[in-house]
Amino acid sequence: MHVQRTLPSSRTARSAVTAASPAALRDLVLAEAPACLLDPELHSGAPGESPADEAARVAVAREVCASCPARLPCQAFALLTRPESGVWAGLTAAEIGALAAVASGAVRSAA
Ligand code: SF4
Repeated sequence: MHVQRTLPSSRTARSAVTAASPAALRDLVLAEAPACLLDPELHSGAPGESPADEAARVAVAREVCASCPARLPCQAFALLTRPESGVWAGLTAAEIGALAAVASGAVRSAA
């Protein structure tokens, strides 16, 4: 399957870099009317989902995120808020948590 990768607009990218709060980042995401709003279960899953179904769903959600113009502010929002579940900017909550931990360690090392 061909996956179209879309870079965020320069305005959205600049805003995501300078946005300081989860609320501001959430507003940037919502302004792009991302596809996940149309099918939230694709990114969050359903109760009782089997591991195989979850893996398949996450793979499709990652493809949706790959072409999302809100990917950068979405990832920044997730890194700040560390969600416990779901797919955010193509990453699972566990991947976001690991990335946030690495980033906070790097910031501490640089200080
Ligand atoms: S990157 Fe994915 S989770 Fe984030 S707003 Fe876009 S479609 Fe939704």
